[in-house]
Amino acid sequence: MTDNSARAAHLIHLRRRKLAKGEPVPLPITPAAMFNLPGDPAGFAQYGRFDNPTWEAVEEMLAHLEDAPAVAFPSGMAAISAVFFSQLRSGDRVLLPSDGYYTTRVLAERFLKPLGVSFDLRATGTFLDGGFEGYRLVFLETPANPGLDLCDIAAVAAAADAAGATVVADNTTMTPYGQRPLDLGADIVVAADTKAPNGHSDALFGHVASRDATVIAGVKEWRKLSGAIPGPFEAWLVHRGLETLEVRFDRMCSSAETIARRLKDHPKVKALRFPGLEDDPSHNLARAQMERFGFLIGLTLESETAAEGFIDGCELIQPATSFGGVHTSAERRARWGDAVAPGFVRLSVGCEPIEELWATIERALG
Ligand SMILES: *Cc1c(COP(=O)(O)O)cnc(C)c1O
Repeated sequence: MTDNSARAAHLIHLRRRKLAKGEPVPLPITPAAMFNLPGDPAGFAQYGRFDNPTWEAVEEMLAHLEDAPAVAFPSGMAAISAVFFSQLRSGDRVLLPSDGYYTTRVLAERFLKPLGVSFDLRATGTFLDGGFEGYRLVFLETPANPGLDLCDIAAVAAAADAAGATVVADNTTMTPYGQRPLDLGADIVVAADTKAPNGHSDALFGHVASRDATVIAGVKEWRKLSGAIPGPFEAWLVHRGLETLEVRFDRMCSSAETIARRLKDHPKVKALRFPGLEDDPSHNLARAQMERFGFLIGLTLESETAAEGFIDGCELIQPATSFGGVHTSAERRARWGDAVAPGFVRLSVGCEPIEELWATIERALG
């Protein structure tokens, strides 16, 4: 079992080891294109596209959380692109979830396919069926966003590894506190730190983590050459956000469990997905592979009108796309064309005190 408490406690003190007397305790932002660089440049910060002390501080935190080297990117999609473009070659085949974050599939369709990288789609709930023979890269997302089906990370990793594929897990919905794909056998983790890790809905950010040094070297080289580098200010915001991730994530997951339980019994709710509920189809797997059950709830109301009315009518729900912020937020995913019911709402439970939040949800449903 992993130790999230020790990880969280030491995360906050990582910077302390390096502080000289009189230096600021909080991290300074270093916006720099140039560095003082006379003579032999080897071993020094050289140029703003290669190095930045503010990214490095965030990467140190992410590496501590992942128990693996981590590379920072300006968004979750930039992290996913870095894995695709550094690892794949013409003629490779990729397996993607049919029900995961849709932009990953669009990226494959628009930019991998024309370069000769083909891909297949498979539903997360039956991801093991059909095996992984012939794939260079197997990309999973569990719980899949937005439908919240799960797949067995350890089983996928074992089977895909035996077939010679690299396994990439998009861990955005869970964060390293909620689920640890690298410990379960995945080769690479990608995540959008735009969501809960930053947590304040004011920056986009992402990272790649891996215990394979070749993978890390590949994505670093991709970042340096493609120029997909994070801005120092965004890195600083994420550094600050990560300091409180554990306390926010704990509140969000606990509140989501309570709310899911209450919604389940509500007459206006036609269907509910939350891996923490005993009768959810994924519950046993969730107990086995997740540290927490997450803060996302999928609820289906009667119709599009009922769903939109619920989202707009609740004072403590921010209507918005994206999730994982301190504000509880929700959206009707069918508005983007996701294969879900018109009345399906993805609810991202935030940090509001639970009884206040529940009272407004109950009122808005009624
Ligand atoms: C949001 C999200 C992404 C993309 O992150 P951006 O920071 O918006 O680029 C990738 N995967 C999942 C599961 C997401 O929810």
